[in-house]
Amino acid sequence: MFSTMQDVPLTVTRILRHGATVHGTSTVTTWTEDGPVVRTFAEVAARSAQLAHALRDELGIREGDVVATLMWNNTEHQEAYLAVPSMGAVLHTLNLRLPAQQLAYIVNHAADRVIVVDGSVLPLLAAVLPQLADTLEHLVVSGPYDPALLAGFAGGVHEYEALIADRPTDFPWRDDLDERAAAAICYTSGTTGDPKGVVYSHRSVYLHCMQVNAADSFGLTGQDTVLPVVPMFHVNAWGIPHAAFMSGANLLMPDRFLQPKPLAEMIDRIRPTVSAAVPTIWNGLLDELDAGGHDATSLRMVVIGGSACPPALMKGFEERHGIRVVHAWGMTETSPLGTFATPPAGLTAEQEWPYRVTQGRFPASVEARLTGPSGERMPHDGVSAGELEVRGPWIAGAYFAGAGRDPERPADKFSEDGWLRTGDVGTITADGFLTLTDRAKDVIKSGGEWISSVELENQLMAHPEVAEAAVVAVPDEKWGERPLATVVLRPGATAGLRELRAFLAERVASWQLPERWAIVEAVPKTSVGKFDKKVIRADYAAERLEVTLLGKE
Ligand code: ADP
Repeated sequence: MFSTMQDVPLTVTRILRHGATVHGTSTVTTWTEDGPVVRTFAEVAARSAQLAHALRDELGIREGDVVATLMWNNTEHQEAYLAVPSMGAVLHTLNLRLPAQQLAYIVNHAADRVIVVDGSVLPLLAAVLPQLADTLEHLVVSGPYDPALLAGFAGGVHEYEALIADRPTDFPWRDDLDERAAAAICYTSGTTGDPKGVVYSHRSVYLHCMQVNAADSFGLTGQDTVLPVVPMFHVNAWGIPHAAFMSGANLLMPDRFLQPKPLAEMIDRIRPTVSAAVPTIWNGLLDELDAGGHDATSLRMVVIGGSACPPALMKGFEERHGIRVVHAWGMTETSPLGTFATPPAGLTAEQEWPYRVTQGRFPASVEARLTGPSGERMPHDGVSAGELEVRGPWIAGAYFAGAGRDPERPADKFSEDGWLRTGDVGTITADGFLTLTDRAKDVIKSGGEWISSVELENQLMAHPEVAEAAVVAVPDEKWGERPLATVVLRPGATAGLRELRAFLAERVASWQLPERWAIVEAVPKTSVGKFDKKVIRADYAAERLEVTLLGKE
């Protein structure tokens, strides 16, 4: 028996129409040098229509064509987010912190026909223009820029405002799109290898947005103002831009002002209720708030994900500033919402902590299983560790292999029965809480035992004089691999390495204690602000680190 229900496609077009009308008075605020610039959702939707007209009528963009953005989080980027998928084209968000070579690679791989680029980042694009294939026909530049940068570009160059001006403010948006059609492409940031493309469908974006808005996740409503510090090129800012149009939450866009001081200022002034970013950003903001002078009490929730959140960071926000920090896990391949750490009911604040420091629970739409080293299913008992595999309507089932090619399903990334192999290693409790111990590639394999680099980092970062700590595996003659601890001390710190080792010795098993230690100026970071362990391992191998050996006393 079939249902009697309507079969209505779940599309970005629906999200755009809903936000533009029902939530037409909600606002998108972009932080600029000259103060905040505010536009209503209705105005943003009208400008999206003008952009769609320009793309179709002037630049010849048709259904299925790829339109890229190389932009900060701002109103114009939001306009592209709405216009491009709703006209049936495909939005490709380019990561403006990628190394030049990778940037050129993904523009060519996705066959971008147009790039909408912020004038402030045009130098990055100009530098790679000679390497771009002739599939790229037009650049649309938003904001002031230096035209000399584009002297060698044979394609069309357009100024964003001039291009959209005087065009109709409504557009025949596609209501009949196949919900399984491509809406957006995002490449992984290549922390552990070459970038790989994930193509989101209208349906996956829509369903994922509903999860972002669910009470057990971000829980966005029209009463919220949300500050996506996470860039719109990092897994679609975790779904927030579209989810806001669905729920009517105001958006506060930080543009390129991602340093602790302007962030603290915009929070103080615009009073967002929810925000999201990777731990490194929150580390800097916490220091800024600790220094005093800014009020951040409007924030009801700050979501941290992208790397393991050190418990000391969560507690710092909560205990010193009354801001609740929620830990979440995800990846480009999972749209990204995979887990969210809401503790069970009936616990005291103290009893909640062991749940809150985990990566959290899976929503109903994300199924999870753990696979052991020989492919066996591991029990969800909170102890047995394995590689996390997931399945669900917003989880990738393959990688994009380029236009016209069949998608790729490499065996190390997708199981035979179609689950995504995340490359993350951890445990799951009977009631569904995930604890990641490491990325498979970062686990330290010492004499047949596994040491979690994340556990050592979290313990070290709980020391009051440690600003950051990154632990990597290095080759060891006797044990195969041993941990190397690299530590960034806070200004004025007096602790020496011996003291740090003694501090760690009270908290982890003695066989896990690193012998190799190095004090560094800064931990190298990837294009999305994660610890770049590839670089640390290479620095160690090339003897660029000053390593101190500390044995058992
Ligand atoms: P990349 O793989 O290029 O770093 P992603 O942003 O897709 O780009 O990274 C996803 C990975 O980030 C996950 O597989 C996991 O290893 C890590 N990660 C994300 N969130 C968390 C978290 N809360 N705790 C630990 N690791 C996390």
